[in-house]
Amino acid sequence: MSDAKGQDRGGRIELNRSGGGKLELKTTVEQGTVRQSFSHGRSKPVAVEVKKRRIGTGTGGSMRKPAVGGGKGGGERTGDEREVRRSARQDQGGKSGRGPVVLKPLTDEEKKVRLKALSEARKNEEEARKRAEENARRAAEELARRKEEEAAAALRKEQEAARRQEEEDARRKAEEQAARLLAEEEAKRKAAEETEKARQAEVQADAAADQVVVADEPAAVSGEDVAAPRPDSAKRPAKSTRRAEGDDDERGRGKPGRGAAKRDNRRGSKLTLGADDDEPVRGPSLAKLKRQRERERLAKVASNEPQVREVVIPETITVQELAARMAIRGAEVVKVLMRNGVLATINQSIDADTAEIVVSEFGHTPKRVSESDVEVGVEGAEDHDSDLKPRPPVVTVMGHVDHGKTSLLDALRKSNVVSGEAGGITQHIGAYQVDIGHGTPVAFIDTPGHAAFTAMRARGASVTDIVVLVVAADDGVMPQTIEAISHAKAAGVPVVVAVNKCDLPDADPSRVKQELLSHDIVVEDFGGDVQAVEVSATKKQNLDKLIEAIQLQAELLELKANPDREAQGFIIEARLDRGRGVVATVLVQKGTLRVGDIVVAGAQWGRVRALVDDHGRNVKEAGPSMPVEILGLDGVPEAGDVMSVVDNERKAREIVDYRQRKRRGQQIAATGGKATLEDMFNQLKAGEIQELPVVIKSDVHGSLEAIQAGLDKIGTDEAKVRVLFGAVGGITESDITLAQASGALVVGFNVRANAQARELARREGLEIRYYSIIYELLDEMKAVLSGMLAPEAREVILGHSEIREVFSISRVGKIAGCMVIDGLMKRSARARLLRDDVVIYDGELGSLKRFKDDVREVRQGFECGMSIEGYNDIRQGDVIEAYEVQEVARTL
Ligand code: GDP
Repeated sequence: MSDAKGQDRGGRIELNRSGGGKLELKTTVEQGTVRQSFSHGRSKPVAVEVKKRRIGTGTGGSMRKPAVGGGKGGGERTGDEREVRRSARQDQGGKSGRGPVVLKPLTDEEKKVRLKALSEARKNEEEARKRAEENARRAAEELARRKEEEAAAALRKEQEAARRQEEEDARRKAEEQAARLLAEEEAKRKAAEETEKARQAEVQADAAADQVVVADEPAAVSGEDVAAPRPDSAKRPAKSTRRAEGDDDERGRGKPGRGAAKRDNRRGSKLTLGADDDEPVRGPSLAKLKRQRERERLAKVASNEPQVREVVIPETITVQELAARMAIRGAEVVKVLMRNGVLATINQSIDADTAEIVVSEFGHTPKRVSESDVEVGVEGAEDHDSDLKPRPPVVTVMGHVDHGKTSLLDALRKSNVVSGEAGGITQHIGAYQVDIGHGTPVAFIDTPGHAAFTAMRARGASVTDIVVLVVAADDGVMPQTIEAISHAKAAGVPVVVAVNKCDLPDADPSRVKQELLSHDIVVEDFGGDVQAVEVSATKKQNLDKLIEAIQLQAELLELKANPDREAQGFIIEARLDRGRGVVATVLVQKGTLRVGDIVVAGAQWGRVRALVDDHGRNVKEAGPSMPVEILGLDGVPEAGDVMSVVDNERKAREIVDYRQRKRRGQQIAATGGKATLEDMFNQLKAGEIQELPVVIKSDVHGSLEAIQAGLDKIGTDEAKVRVLFGAVGGITESDITLAQASGALVVGFNVRANAQARELARREGLEIRYYSIIYELLDEMKAVLSGMLAPEAREVILGHSEIREVFSISRVGKIAGCMVIDGLMKRSARARLLRDDVVIYDGELGSLKRFKDDVREVRQGFECGMSIEGYNDIRQGDVIEAYEVQEVARTL
């Protein structure tokens, strides 16, 4: 197609006329190759053609530029014209085949046709080019897409490969792990088997007696040296049994798979096995396992067969306590309660009816008990006669005031020779023991008078065994002596008479004895059985004789008690000590009280922290008839309260709770039933009564009594203080509750409210008043009361006159001749006529005369004449009381 010649001559094939007029082909195209590179280093040769275009005068051509006219100014020709001309030339050349020809100018028609053809051709060419471009673009796009896809695929492949690799690794690892574990497991199992077999072998070896004696020479020991029958010796050659003297328990154990029978190897085996030894193969562990299984089995049996219990239900019980009595968890009781529509927490109390339902639901048998049943058994069992041992008598001294009771008690206390402290310092604890060296000691209650004795008796406390009746030899039997006698008789307590003050010159003991006869006290001198000792407290005469007489009396009474049991006694007195807390003196009646005992005393309880005797010494225990102070009670009990030792704290709390509830109930009942704020308001409105209810807490009983007495006095018929509750001890929450329920004022005398009580009082808007001086307390109460009084006038007594003579005057009536004995008489005053301290008439003074003159007033010490308006029954000896009704602000 192309040749070198052609290329040289212009690289284009063209038709040429040679000299002979022959047509020949000439190369008109330049041809070459280039190397095209592809990716990945590939390349290929590509043939390239460069087409030369000859327009107009060619090198070999002879064509002339025709002068083309045709309307267009001879300059430039348009491209279209050039194309048309070339086509025309070519057409001519082709047709004629002759040398240069002059082209005939084209007609307009032809031109048009040609131009049209040309434009079409150009259009087609353009379209073809566009298509080619489009194709090329598409191809490029396709290529790029493919490349992208290829790249993405490659990436995916890579990732996939990596993932697979990882998975493979993980799987392999897991397999390895499993294989290793399996192998270990297997090894362990085998080891266990081997060990067990070895043990069996050893047992057999033991049975084969002493045939097995292996030299303890380690070098000589080999796997085959084991003489005991061992079926698996081939498998476990390192096993060795060492049986040296006294070394029975020491065993060498072989490890499977360790064949070397050398000493080191053997040791190594032993060590390795020891380290690998599993728990269950050891003897004690097996036993442990067995025990555990047994426990589990028993538990199962127990759970399958629920135990039916008898559950004691008091009137109220906390959920927790009820659960404890059924031996189940509190939450389960709560659940059952919820099912029954009762919402209660573990610490809440439920009533007996609800508790009964719960108990039945759990399949147990409920047993209802009365609330007071908690006290059952507090006093302990009855003592057998064989357990009883003689005990010292307990004595109370009684008698008329000033007959020397206190002096006698003091003298007796100081005569305590055994303690070696005669005349020394003694501690006042409310009771003490006197030991004069022979016979049993005597316990004296240190509170003289029958008030204490009666108070104790009123509480059912028969503390006293013997009454010492003190009668002053110079004074004889007096009213309180008689009272004392009747109290002793009422209590069935024998009397020993102490005729005191015998040192006085006017002492007449026989007169005393005589007088006693008329009160059924027949002394021995008169053939009776009452001992009478003539003593002198101040001179300390015959005190030992008095003690002896008491001891003799005690012997007759055969006083006995069992000291070897839990203690029981009576509270003699109790107080709140600032430093030591609650201090209570107990007279032990039976049993022995020890430090650490849990005691219930009245409505209080506590663990005995310390015991202090009447000499202020700490003691560890106190037997029958021994007075001791106990420390550790949580509240102040009352004199005469029974004290008992109980088993545990729970029991103590139970009893105390019950007793406190009971006492509170009694208090409220005693103060006239329901005392609510509402009631009080209603009564106030109706004007029936004006009362100030108070709750009083005090530090000692003495103050409490004084306050109560004082409050009684300041009241009138219209306004008075009503003590709802009075006790010794700090103010507690329950006091506030009580006060709140009754709209009462809380009074603390030398005591304070605890934090909870304060908080409750604050919440309820209750007032707590503190005092430390009794009259201040009473004054304030008076002020409070007067504030409550209706604003009305009060009467003021002016004075009294005694009627000395009565004169009858006609038309005027009776005139009393009087002497003003106190105060004064006023003419306009009101008057009362008193006969034997009883008001017999209340009216107005008619006239007041001094001699014959009317006067306005007559003062004390002067005589006067008076008449009472409208009343004539006046007699000599009557008393006229003059008084006024003053319209003043009234304070009680
Ligand atoms: P109480 O009220 O019964 O306790 O009597 P006291 O013990 O307070 O005594 C009253 C008064 O009697 C005191 O002044 C004592 O000194 C006095 N007294 C007591 N015993 C005797 C005694 O034996 N002889 C004399 N001479 N006086 C006595």
